[in-house]
Amino acid sequence: MKEQELMQKIVSLAKRRGFIFQGSEIYGGLAGTYDYGPLGVSLKKNIKDSWWRKFVENRTDMYGLDASILMSGMVWHASGHADGFVDPLVEDLVTGKRYRADHLLEDAGFEILGKTISEMNQIIQENNILSPEKNPLGEVRTFNMMLQTKMGAVEDSASHTFLRPETAQGIFVNFKNVVDSFSPKLPFGIGQIGKAFRNEITPRDFIFRLREFEQMEIEYFVYPEYWSQEFEYWKDEMLEWMQEIGLDMNHVHEVEISEEDRAHYSKRTIDFEFDYPFGRKELYGLAYRGDYDLSKHIEKSKQRLQILHPETNEWITPHVIEPTFGVDRTVLALLLSVYQEEEIDGESRVYLSFPSSMAPVKIAVSPLLRNKPDLVERAQEVFAKLKQEFGNVMWDDNGNIGKRYRRQDEIGTPYCVVVDFDTLENNEVTVRDRNTTKQERVSIQKLNTYFAEKFETK
Ligand code: ATP
Repeated sequence: MKEQELMQKIVSLAKRRGFIFQGSEIYGGLAGTYDYGPLGVSLKKNIKDSWWRKFVENRTDMYGLDASILMSGMVWHASGHADGFVDPLVEDLVTGKRYRADHLLEDAGFEILGKTISEMNQIIQENNILSPEKNPLGEVRTFNMMLQTKMGAVEDSASHTFLRPETAQGIFVNFKNVVDSFSPKLPFGIGQIGKAFRNEITPRDFIFRLREFEQMEIEYFVYPEYWSQEFEYWKDEMLEWMQEIGLDMNHVHEVEISEEDRAHYSKRTIDFEFDYPFGRKELYGLAYRGDYDLSKHIEKSKQRLQILHPETNEWITPHVIEPTFGVDRTVLALLLSVYQEEEIDGESRVYLSFPSSMAPVKIAVSPLLRNKPDLVERAQEVFAKLKQEFGNVMWDDNGNIGKRYRRQDEIGTPYCVVVDFDTLENNEVTVRDRNTTKQERVSIQKLNTYFAEKFETK
């Protein structure tokens, strides 16, 4: 299958089956925004729950946080975002359309990592690079990606602030609060899941580059001398989680960012890239940020964002390892990883091979025929029992049984349960497995333990 074709199929399945819709669709859509429908919400929740369990709840050295999206403008001056969170912008001189200069140059085959604005201008001039509409381009300039907003009724400069472009700063500004409340010892971390906003010049590639998206971030505070081993440890933890949720690890690549391309304060950064149909691009990042952020906030806020060293009794500024994950890019990479097409007995079928922990619907329950009251009644009993135990269980009596299986395959439901006439005699139902399409009879009495075992191992 051609890569672009695969992307089209994913986008259309996501809309048709209620995973992901274009934002503000009935008004023509709002660029860079997507809305998650019932199944998308469920998938996203499974991803976030799994992340939270592994990285926060199941550990004794992690603290959870939910900071405000709106923060004092001072935060963004201290962190460097107000001045430095910029992308190179270039305009088509005829249409006025704006593009990311680095993307245009990349598409034209130039290596742009680490290039300055004037170097990009030089490449454009020397090679007569044109816009996608084949028009001349203007000068490359920097464009701040933070979305500005106004707060309160008074119009003055103090009322201007930004929607956060990352969740990380919410963690740094709460460092002291967590330390004061819990007196943690190094190493320890603070984890947060939340929305972030970036005024991307050209949002594109479905939910890959959005203007509103969600991040799952950890700031892990360590003794400076141990940063290197902690970095390795977090790299392995990240890889383990990617595998756990069912990403195709053949499509995940670790890319060491070279010194010249790293932020000046970072001694090491790894990008985890994924083979998307539109190219190999960033999925997650892992950065050693030294004491850059805490030191900047100490300087600007005049607060002691430090910890007392238990042996020397001196105040030290911990160093930070930052594993960062995009929720939406996870959704996309996961959909691409589990999308399967196959031919069975001359018929083609599409299914999503989610691990059960990620599947938006765990089990679908149907009566063989929906116009037979005794079948429906029995199926309703089975449905209620399973729903109580497993939560995300769907009632599906639309169309014939073949159509139901196809629909459930397309949304990745691991098991379908069908109540038929034999059930009324022997109290057994048919359970059909999504991946193998094999069916077996299971007694209603044993259904809960049957599924509990299945879900434990998958
Ligand atoms: P890119 O180079 O692709 O713009 P980035 O290096 O700016 O990404 P980070 O600042 O490291 O990204 O953000 C952390 C994570 O947040 C990324 O690894 C990605 O998963 C997610 N992310 C960043 N920007 C976007 C966006 N515009 N839309 C969706 N997810 C995003």
